[in-house]
Amino acid sequence: MSNTYTSGLRHKNTHRRTNAPIAAKKPHDIIPALGDSIRIIPLGGVEEIGKNMTVIEFKNDIIVVDAGIQFTDDDTPGVDYILPNIKYLEDRKDRIRALVITHGHLDHIGGIPYLITRLGNPPIYTREFGALLIQKRQVEFPHLPPLNIRIVEASDKSIPITPDLKVRFFGLTHSIPDSTGVIIETPYGDIVNTGDVRVENENGVPAEKEVEQYKMFKDRKVLLFTMDSTGIDKSGFSPSETSILKNIDSIVATAPGRVILATFASQVERIVEFLKTAKRYGRKVLIEGRSMKTNVEIIKHLNLVETDHIVPIEDIEKYPPNKILMVATGAQGEEFAALMRMSNKTHKFIRLQRSDTIILSSSVIPGNDKAVEKLKDNLFRHDAKIITYLDSDVHTSGHGKRGELEWVHKQILYKYFMPVHGSHFRLKMHAELAANLGCPRENIIV
Ligand SMILES: [Zn+2]
Ligand SMILES: [Zn+2]
Repeated sequence: MSNTYTSGLRHKNTHRRTNAPIAAKKPHDIIPALGDSIRIIPLGGVEEIGKNMTVIEFKNDIIVVDAGIQFTDDDTPGVDYILPNIKYLEDRKDRIRALVITHGHLDHIGGIPYLITRLGNPPIYTREFGALLIQKRQVEFPHLPPLNIRIVEASDKSIPITPDLKVRFFGLTHSIPDSTGVIIETPYGDIVNTGDVRVENENGVPAEKEVEQYKMFKDRKVLLFTMDSTGIDKSGFSPSETSILKNIDSIVATAPGRVILATFASQVERIVEFLKTAKRYGRKVLIEGRSMKTNVEIIKHLNLVETDHIVPIEDIEKYPPNKILMVATGAQGEEFAALMRMSNKTHKFIRLQRSDTIILSSSVIPGNDKAVEKLKDNLFRHDAKIITYLDSDVHTSGHGKRGELEWVHKQILYKYFMPVHGSHFRLKMHAELAANLGCPRENIIV
């Protein structure tokens, strides 16, 4: 092998006029000059789900949207999570003017502690809920310099970042408070990034607040539209969050004993509603799971809902079973999460009993099927009542299905379209949707 390599080199040298060493390629040899163009580089989040990060470059300035991590799976044993490759930005960090955050989920903010100093610590523009999550996470990295966070309201007018570029947020619906889309205003028109999005609706008719949220696009000149593709492979509209909450409310109303609600900690808006439901039926609330506790602390801090009925888990025996509602992580069958520990009798404080009602308010993420089967087996051994999204509408995704995405497309008149936040087949399906709605195929970037 090494012989072949050497002879290859020798052969190459015969064609060179000098014996001077070959200069390494510099980045500007490979990447064409920008000129008057706008350059957009997704550093993550396309052809994959996770580590969302997009670069927008114009003249001497760069704005970065999101800085997420990607969660790992069976294909990446021993790896905790994956960061986007930011070499391009590190080489140009003196030109980065802003990091703009769409919302506080880890696939959009999780990379900040690892990347922000490598980016030159630019100001971070975010809504309040995202800011609190970013700060909470940053506490675990005390060696890092303080972050330069600028909290923005959805209703704020455009914020000038450079003489040519402005940033504007617009409210939309996802599953965490303060979810926003981002508009980068450029001399050529708007670059619109929805972040993660769904459309609240009643049997396929978008709610009034949705119509209101997108009204601002009526007179805007959108150069490029980029949008979440996670739910594109599911047709129609999702069940409404309102109907989900109504179903859960009626289950809680008639439950004979304790109610254990398991969902993703990232479903913050739903957790707020669970707290209201518990209050309505005079139930004390127990919060189980580290990420769940973190998010509930922020809910408390922002006074989003009454929280005086939250009690520590150690006090569980002080209340009758029909006065208890527990909100826990672990609906995906995660090995050490609260629900799994309850199911396999290793939880420090809780033993499941026949009168318990357990609601898995989540779908099964592809890849977790086996773990969820195991969890359900374990739960059913206790003869408690188990309700999943297959039995009743107790979950709806934060990512809109195809009908919802199509409706959003129809609210925004754009020239170019780039589907993001999805595997390759999802991006292609989303491209097809845009083409069917009249976007010329040469204007769609996959
Ligand atoms: Zn999200
Ligand atoms: Zn996301």
